Amino acid sequence: MITVDEALDRIFTRIPTPLPESVPLSRAHKRVLTKPLLAKHTQPPFDASAMDGYAVRSVEVVPGKPLFLAGTSQAGARFTGMMQHGECVRIFTGAPLPIGADAVIMQEQATARGNQVTFEKMPRLGQSIRRKGNDFTEGKELLPAGVGLTPAMLNLAASANYASLEVARRPKIAVLATGDELVPPGSELGPDQIVASNSYGLIPLLSSYADKVIDLGIVADDKKALEKSILGAFDYGVEVLLTSGGASVGDRDYVQEVLRDLGVHLDFWKILMRPGKPLMFGTRGKTLVFGLPGNPTSAFVTAVALVRPALRLMTGHTDPFWPFMGVPLAVDLPPNGERRHFIRAKLNRNEIGFLEVVPIAETDSNHSSSLAEADALIIQPENDLGTPAGEIVEIIPLNMLG
Ligand code: AMP
Ligand code: MG
Repeated sequence: MITVDEALDRIFTRIPTPLPESVPLSRAHKRVLTKPLLAKHTQPPFDASAMDGYAVRSVEVVPGKPLFLAGTSQAGARFTGMMQHGECVRIFTGAPLPIGADAVIMQEQATARGNQVTFEKMPRLGQSIRRKGNDFTEGKELLPAGVGLTPAMLNLAASANYASLEVARRPKIAVLATGDELVPPGSELGPDQIVASNSYGLIPLLSSYADKVIDLGIVADDKKALEKSILGAFDYGVEVLLTSGGASVGDRDYVQEVLRDLGVHLDFWKILMRPGKPLMFGTRGKTLVFGLPGNPTSAFVTAVALVRPALRLMTGHTDPFWPFMGVPLAVDLPPNGERRHFIRAKLNRNEIGFLEVVPIAETDSNHSSSLAEADALIIQPENDLGTPAGEIVEIIPLNMLG
């Protein structure tokens, strides 16, 4: 048996370097830049007004003494002349500052009568002006490679004049459920039958890291049928294969054997984690294969703890473990054994409104309603001696994933 960290190390060494592809900005949300984004121009490209008001030469403003209104500067249509002494120019937010002006007075502090404008007080030099290059200058690194693009980052990329971005390609992923007892949701349940649920959690959990997720459905505990389905996925060019169920070495657990027969080099199959073992990891050329446990909570938690970090690296993220945070415990946590424990937990606001994490008592790995109840997994380290309430523990928030 190996530790979770060792398992992650072994998986990470097998991750192919992500290749770049160009995508239009409108499809780049959550994608990851393969190289830093440099500004193509300077922003704002000219000194601009930050207010609707009047552009003035600051030393010429005397409260109550009118200036002559020489014209207008609008966003998209600047005042083309030169502002002469004794003049002011009507100006709107974002419009270029006229040559000769050095301050803008907001319209609320001005009174216009015909061509005469008077002001309540003297402005500061540079008041209400957005200087050229105040946001960014041409060639500046605006975004680093390796972070998931947020809506605000896409807004920035657009203002830096990019119509498309070079981002990391995402893999084609296939998901397969196996077990003679399994039937699809919505079935008339026969005796001894179990509804196959795992793929319905795994697919949305991982789909933002996939170019495409192919659901291979349910395959019986049958060597031939498994071989046919898995080989089909390999031949199609799947880059990540996830199976759930059939991963132990019971009489009817064929996944390991079939993977070996199909040329998958198996790296390990038992990890010191709870819930979780057994778990297989292997590679076939550049294709990664994860044989997840059949129990619903085990399958989901191993996907969160091991598959998702791998997919993050595959899709260009530099941080495989984001989001990952520390939150105070609401109650004492009992000691842990040698397996890292991923504890289902709820996030709560305590009586003064601060976030705290409350472990859910249920630890059965076949139990799916407690997993649905969980907002997070507490990561309790191997051999932890127990943690008192109030102490900060590491959590993986579940519903910020994706
Ligand atoms: P196995 O790993 O095949 O021994 O399965 C362990 C447990 O998980 C058994 O109770 C299976 O019925 C159950 N199981 C396996 N696959 C699924 C699935 N796709 N959805 C829900 N439960 C499953
Ligand atoms: Mg089974």
